[in-house]
Amino acid sequence: MIIVVGAGVAGLAAARRLSMQGQKVTLVAPQEPQPSFGETLSERGALVLTSLGWATCLTEKVALRSQGRFSVWGGEGLRTVQDEDGQGYLLDKAHLEQELLERVQKEGIPVLNTRVLSLEHKPEGVLAQLADGSSLEGSALIDCTGRAALSAGAAAERRRLDRLVAAWQVFDLPEGAEPLAASLIEAVELGWWYLSPMPGHRLMVALFSDSDLLPDGLSRDGTVWAGLLSCADAARVRMESLGLESQMADHSPKVSAAASCMVSYFVEGRILRAGDAGAAMDPLAANGLATALWSGSQAAQAAVALIQGNPEPARNYEKDYLMGLLGHLNAQHALYGMEQRFKAQPFWQRRHRPLD
Ligand SMILES: Cc1cc2nc3c(=O)[nH]c(=O)nc-3n(C[C@H](O)[C@H](O)[C@H](O)COP(=O)(O)OP(=O)(O)OC[C@H]3O[C@@H](n4cnc5c(N)ncnc54)[C@H](O)[C@@H]3O)c2cc1C
Repeated sequence: MIIVVGAGVAGLAAARRLSMQGQKVTLVAPQEPQPSFGETLSERGALVLTSLGWATCLTEKVALRSQGRFSVWGGEGLRTVQDEDGQGYLLDKAHLEQELLERVQKEGIPVLNTRVLSLEHKPEGVLAQLADGSSLEGSALIDCTGRAALSAGAAAERRRLDRLVAAWQVFDLPEGAEPLAASLIEAVELGWWYLSPMPGHRLMVALFSDSDLLPDGLSRDGTVWAGLLSCADAARVRMESLGLESQMADHSPKVSAAASCMVSYFVEGRILRAGDAGAAMDPLAANGLATALWSGSQAAQAAVALIQGNPEPARNYEKDYLMGLLGHLNAQHALYGMEQRFKAQPFWQRRHRPLD
């Protein structure tokens, strides 16, 4: 039996792929409330969902077909962002996870509603100690615990690359407001704003910046957050046109970690790391969900080969992951480099430094 820990999209993809391969799998998935972010699922991510037989999961409750992306980046004008492979979907991430978890459960995959506290390598597998006092031994384990990165001890060489956080809130749209299903990204001195319509007639509004650059009291006082929006012309106009600008001051934002973190080793004995537990990336390029789905699915296939005595797919998994990350980091560096209007500001200076 193979253990999958965590029921974000990486863990759900891993469990589903193992089941498709006829493997016995147990998913350890504490039923904890998850933040209901509005996120963009790229076409690449949608393709992985299709490969898992989940094309129909993007229901009205879960996703809106994106009708475009706009940005104010590198200059003052509002531009349309062209995506070669299509526009993707605007998601309610928590609803997607719920929908996929129900499908996994319907398939008969056992789901344990508890946390894993610790892991121990065994000669032929991995022993997981669970928060309910029991333990579980598997021939391999896929760690999909997101930024908590349960298995990432010293051997994983996990590094944090920046201090990015998101100050965010989800607003109900007033009756009669009919925004185009298109996201907006706007660069400002402190970082960048992200506005994205969500299913259920809602709008995700987020300011991405570094934790040490955000003003004190931001998460307690909505007026501070609303004040910051005044520097973002396009985002402010969009909020005004949707009748939401005055609501910002009444809703102080939540602050969530969004820093880039990555391990140097994705495979350690019979433990494989996938999704944000392997590499959590800056959401600017909206690659996190696609990478989590891809890596969950790939780690599952590599784990099966590993327990059958073939380590090659696990080595390739690690190599492909690292190569993909390198490409991602270079593309992201180039994207930040395109914005030079605020080059004297710490947020941008940090991102304009050459990559290590
Ligand atoms: C503000 C923000 C905006 C983003 N926007 C986008 C976007 O627009 N597009 C995009 O593609 N990506 C975006 N991302 C990134 C994307 O959300 C993540 O990359 C992706 O959701 C990671 O999925 P995951 O399954 O690896 O981890 P998670 O979704 O974090 O899931 C981890 C799971 O593990 C469970 N867990 C943790 N510890 C334990 C334990 N000890 N035992 C058992 N279970 C445990 C948790 O309960 C959780 O369910 C964004 C991220 C942030 C923070």
